[in-house]
Amino acid sequence: MTAQEAEEKKFQTETQKMLDLMINSIYTNQEIFLRELIANASDAIDKVKFQSLTDSDILAGNSDFEIWLDIDKANNEFIIEDNGIGMTYNEVIENIGTIAQSGSQEFLQKLQEQQAAAEDDALDLIGQFGVGFYSSFMVANKVTLITRAPKQDKGVKWESTGDGTYRIEEVDKPERGTIIKLQLRNEFTSDGEGMDLTNRQNIQRLVQKHSNYVQYPIKMKFYEEGDEGETTEEIRTLNDMRPLWVRNKGDIEEEEYNEFYKEVFNDWTEPLEVVHSKVEGLVKYSTLLFIPQQAPSNIFSEDFDQGLRLYSKNNFVMDNCSKLLPDYLRFVRGLVDSPDFNLNLSRQVLQDDKQLKIISKNLKKKVLKRLKNMLADDREKYKKFWREFGQLIKGGINMNYGKEQEELVDLLVFPSSHSDSEMTTLAEYVERMEEDQDVIYYVTGEDETTVEKLPQMELLQEKGLEVLYFFDEIDEFAINSLREYDDIEFKSVLRGDLDLDEVDESVEADEDEVEELLEDIKDHLADKVTDVRLSKRLKSSAVCLVSGDAGLSMSMEKVLEKMDQNMGQAQRILEINPQHDLFSKLKKIHVTEGNSDRLAEYSKLLYSLASLVEGFTPEDPVEFSDKITNLMVEAK
Ligand code: ADP
Repeated sequence: MTAQEAEEKKFQTETQKMLDLMINSIYTNQEIFLRELIANASDAIDKVKFQSLTDSDILAGNSDFEIWLDIDKANNEFIIEDNGIGMTYNEVIENIGTIAQSGSQEFLQKLQEQQAAAEDDALDLIGQFGVGFYSSFMVANKVTLITRAPKQDKGVKWESTGDGTYRIEEVDKPERGTIIKLQLRNEFTSDGEGMDLTNRQNIQRLVQKHSNYVQYPIKMKFYEEGDEGETTEEIRTLNDMRPLWVRNKGDIEEEEYNEFYKEVFNDWTEPLEVVHSKVEGLVKYSTLLFIPQQAPSNIFSEDFDQGLRLYSKNNFVMDNCSKLLPDYLRFVRGLVDSPDFNLNLSRQVLQDDKQLKIISKNLKKKVLKRLKNMLADDREKYKKFWREFGQLIKGGINMNYGKEQEELVDLLVFPSSHSDSEMTTLAEYVERMEEDQDVIYYVTGEDETTVEKLPQMELLQEKGLEVLYFFDEIDEFAINSLREYDDIEFKSVLRGDLDLDEVDESVEADEDEVEELLEDIKDHLADKVTDVRLSKRLKSSAVCLVSGDAGLSMSMEKVLEKMDQNMGQAQRILEINPQHDLFSKLKKIHVTEGNSDRLAEYSKLLYSLASLVEGFTPEDPVEFSDKITNLMVEAK
């Protein structure tokens, strides 16, 4: 639809909310509006350039891609112009009137969640999401956008003061591209207290700070007053443009990498690690990769933009190419530039591009090697990394097998009974193993305090055997998929038989009697447990439940249940502590009453008690509490 006359339209509610936020300016860092507008201009040029590869008419001779900044001092206006893709009438309504972009939506939501949050958090958020075009309302009280898409006769003018409505109409515009005029708020003029945005030097500084590596020249005219009152005009290119990755590593300061990363990948914090390399061989490429300090909030969600940016000789080819790194390294940001990439590279072609495969193998190796070095040389830093991205690496182990898994095992670290805060690698664990120890013990649970109190841990603690702590839901799945490390099997403290051969001789004396008792209890719990036996691991607790040796464990069952994936129940084994007074009591009941009702009831109670410790709710909580109450009443 096109309109002959101006239309007055209302903003979508979300958009207006966003605008209000901008207008009431919760950020002290208003200057980023320029970065956002320049990024949009640069994206728009990327788009038209890309389309022109298949449709050369689109450029219509206008192919010196540039971004122009200008200042109209008399009117306190700041102007930015590009010869990018522009927008049609409907595109303006869609793109500028509504927040289609999920990032902005999520931003809004996050912001509302922490309405009362400190300014710092808001800054963090804006860094994470970027709020694009609307940020111009932080410095302007009226924004005018005039744009023309390729092959259109007319342009479109959009205007708003951010007060709920905008005005849109067709206008004449001779060339393709977009002009945005900001009517600056008084605060940002030479009369105001904020940064004077009518000052060209200030603008130049901002461009160098935030937009230095933008691929297209950002130009502005500077005027100089001569001796005789005449003004001379000088056109300056404000940005450097020389891509950091083509320069030599030795010539680049850490600060430059950090700035580059923050600008290009829209992060507020510096990267944790930078990997920069140039390869000249069978394939030729340079790469600049970053490991962020913080995982983006949506890293596990579908809409996370995973992947690297591809360039071919400094020409942008595509963004978010996910073929270059395995899924478990999806947190890596960065770019790869190779003269071998075809500018027309489509995602289909990418699938089986040989060069790409070689590059991708190399990149993976590089990143993993860097992580291994970090683990060896800087444990504190590695722990930081692990806190943010460890789950992904474990996921990689879980989803892969063979060689692929092997590459990752030595990146694993876990807290353990040796030192919870220090975290141990598997190799370090094995080093510390007791002489006659032939398995790697682990326990699953909430946190340190919970697992250390588990009855199943008692004997291991007494024997001083080190136990790995699995606090992450994925841990046990990953270890199950791994099976062994260095030919040593993993063994859950909560599973099967621990083979710690500590049998109490006094029990063996009346073996038949005990045998019968256990059988009877098992009968009473036939629908709940696969076995009832004397425990070799309990010291002071009376009972515990353990999972069967193979298959699902109880903790895995819990995780799957949470994910709504019913994979059945874990095998449960009830273990009774033969040294406990409760066991003597059971024996006494059995000797005097035989397989009585009381024994049946006690069996069920035993099971409920053991389940409780495992974090399961008794099947019938009311019945359970009634029984306990009765016992208390009966007690002398
Ligand atoms: P984002 O850039 O994150 O998508 P914005 O709010 O900044 O969000 O912009 C919304 C959309 O408006 C862009 O995705 C783009 O389609 C369009 N747009 C913005 N600026 C320009 C421009 N200078 N030229 C062409 N299209 C633009």
